[in-house]
Amino acid sequence: MTSVPTNSQSGYFRPTWCEIDLGAIKHNTRQLKEMVGRDVQLLVCLKGDALACGAERIAAICEQSGADGFAFGNIDAAIACRRAGVSLPMLLYPNCLPESASILEEYRLIPTISTMEDVHGWERHVKSSLDVFLKIDSGGLRAGAAPRDSQRIAVAIASSKRLRLAGVYGHTLASYHVDSNGVAEKGPQKQLEVFLGALMSIEDARIEIPIRMFSSSEIVVSQPEADLNAVEPGRLVLGLDFPAVASRERVWMPALVGFKSRIVTKKRLDIAFASKQPSFFPLRDEMVIGLLPLGWSDGYPKTLPKLATALVRGKRVSLLGPVHSELLRIDLTDVPEAEVGDEVVLLGASGSEQILLHDLAQQWGVSVADVYTGIGKTLPRVYLNE
Ligand SMILES: *Cc1c(COP(=O)(O)O)cnc(C)c1O
Repeated sequence: MTSVPTNSQSGYFRPTWCEIDLGAIKHNTRQLKEMVGRDVQLLVCLKGDALACGAERIAAICEQSGADGFAFGNIDAAIACRRAGVSLPMLLYPNCLPESASILEEYRLIPTISTMEDVHGWERHVKSSLDVFLKIDSGGLRAGAAPRDSQRIAVAIASSKRLRLAGVYGHTLASYHVDSNGVAEKGPQKQLEVFLGALMSIEDARIEIPIRMFSSSEIVVSQPEADLNAVEPGRLVLGLDFPAVASRERVWMPALVGFKSRIVTKKRLDIAFASKQPSFFPLRDEMVIGLLPLGWSDGYPKTLPKLATALVRGKRVSLLGPVHSELLRIDLTDVPEAEVGDEVVLLGASGSEQILLHDLAQQWGVSVADVYTGIGKTLPRVYLNE
């Protein structure tokens, strides 16, 4: 049984938590670095609080395991990581205003530039000097300069006294598909070509581009030629899997390894009484239920999934609906030895039984990423294998 964060030291008394395996982060980071090689920088994307695994702890482990920098979808998460002692370069996707320039200078954060207006805005507010990244819109129609504007904007950055062009990046929103022979399909290759064309137009103006970066997780494992001299995967580092070409097939270890609670109340139902109540769940003879202090407020699906199960003392038990805000029932009829205080595993192992991430995602009818963000946001996190 894991040590549960329910004491005055941890500050938590409600026995419901998730478990994040920092050993997995270490493994995935090293494996990525080894895969792309020494000449390719690894910037780990930590958006969404590192998929709700906790950006500060994840960043610290990545920093020790060979990462070269980070990218953030939220400036406040980046600042929190700096304050926690993370020292590698930090790129910000568009998520702050030029009026925050002094904070970026103080914390050495790198903003994204997409337009001439961005260049002028940052130039006006930066006091001393600031590294910036130019983003190219290769077809996602989100942030980024249109390819034909990229040279003009790069020239504006390069001729600025306060801004320094530290890199140029792109991002494809279209998923790559790898066919059954492990060959990446050509379609989204177009976006890489558009990006490379924009890089060339910038170099035509004799502007040096220290970092050229295009690949998120799906691209890293399906399109090795898109490595250029830096990559920025996020979900791979957190252990999510993507279709890979043969040369990049690896085992990625999931960071989210546990979702657990403990029985806070156990009772035998008075069946004569229960059978006169609305039918919340099918009644059984000698039925015993347990209550768990967790519910849809913690990211558990509001509608109880069909076949929703958990593990108690190595046995598989059913969850019983309806799901409440912060309470959930389990059927303990077949585990008469279960006691108040017993650990209940919704994700993870108990005895020889196991509920894997993919099983849980399938139970819930969501993606694995949705399981991460669903439960990681509200629950206390226990970090394992530091
Ligand atoms: C989200 C994001 C990434 C990382 O995506 P993953 O699929 O998690 O690897 C990289 N670059 C940009 C611009 C992003 O928005």
